[in-house]
Amino acid sequence: MPKDRRLVVISIDALTDDDIRRAGDTPNLDSIRERGAYIPNINGIYPSLTHPCHATIITGRTPGVHGIVSNEDFSKPGRPWFNDLSDLKSRSVIDCLKGCGKTVASCRWPVTANGFDRIDYLIPEITSETLIKDDILGYYLDNSSPILKDIIEEHIVMLDLKSQPEEDLFSTACACEILRCFRPDVLFTHPACVDTYKHHTGIRSSKTLEMVRLADRMVGDLIQATRDAGTFESTVFVVLSDHGHNELDREIALNEVFRRDGKGDRLVADECGHSAQIYVNGMAESEAFEYLQSKVGDESGIERVFTKEELRERYGTFGAFSFMVESDAHTQFSNAIGTEIETRLTVDDHHGCSTHGHMPEKSPKPIFMAAGPNIAHRTITEASMLQEAPTFLKVMGIEAPDLETPLDIFRD
Ligand SMILES: [Zn+2]
Ligand SMILES: [Zn+2]
Repeated sequence: MPKDRRLVVISIDALTDDDIRRAGDTPNLDSIRERGAYIPNINGIYPSLTHPCHATIITGRTPGVHGIVSNEDFSKPGRPWFNDLSDLKSRSVIDCLKGCGKTVASCRWPVTANGFDRIDYLIPEITSETLIKDDILGYYLDNSSPILKDIIEEHIVMLDLKSQPEEDLFSTACACEILRCFRPDVLFTHPACVDTYKHHTGIRSSKTLEMVRLADRMVGDLIQATRDAGTFESTVFVVLSDHGHNELDREIALNEVFRRDGKGDRLVADECGHSAQIYVNGMAESEAFEYLQSKVGDESGIERVFTKEELRERYGTFGAFSFMVESDAHTQFSNAIGTEIETRLTVDDHHGCSTHGHMPEKSPKPIFMAAGPNIAHRTITEASMLQEAPTFLKVMGIEAPDLETPLDIFRD
């Protein structure tokens, strides 16, 4: 293993094989697949939400083990997002890399905020605009590595937190500068515009496909930045995604369903898009299970009920909730109460066209591709998301015997 081996991991949120085929004109993704390894179907985790998935991608652990069981922390008042690296309950590849003396950059990778003790070049992903008030620059400077001050000041004009792809253009420009100026051993970054436009305009809209082509340009910019830095030849590029999407046309207020059925305070749903986690208070779990089972197939949109034993066994997903319910194909859940049970969604609604959070067995699935030194040219039909973290470590010459086997993408 050459000492100067480097790794760039680009997570294009919600990208699928179908997107790449439909988008056309994706020369940078095509070149990675043509040179390297491609896995069009990654079996992910449940619920298939962005923060739990990204936590799995960097820990190689399931949500029950790494502790990021949803995007938001149900146990805390106001349900803040899981943002901080310290929210992870298990060791991540960042810890392993740091322990081996490698330098690490994280540019808006979920669940890495405030990880200054382990991340050399950190720009956090900010998921609560209310924290920022009117001072975006001040917020970013306060929450990013001080050494990145000039890069952030130079590019902040590109950022509009209410708008995509501006967030990604800012993030990618900063990531490119980090690659050029500091040549970190490993960089993680996370363009999210494809996910945003799928939610708002649908899986196959022209706007979504435009974002796929734009994300491809971002990959191209990151590759070019390594050429500028003189590190291209020693860098393995990984492009992956966290989940696919499924289309929908209605939202069901699950807590309102429970209230009207007289279960009120005793059953509380916390939505995860196409699924929900169900907390039980002062009610026998057997009674709760019987009730939830009785809702399967009715107007509540519940397609399937998982007990906590099933969730642990099948997905390694466990927490303070007692059940998860999966929605039918065209429904997402909300936490609303005191409203109508069913809302028909239109393109003007937030998440009005498609979403995720569904069982990871459902298609379309996320992808993984890699190219660079020692990466074989091959296609593997499917693999597990749990294999990605040990693969990053293997690229960097670090063994992780306690994790799953790395993906079979290496030449030797
Ligand atoms: Zn996502
Ligand atoms: Zn999303």
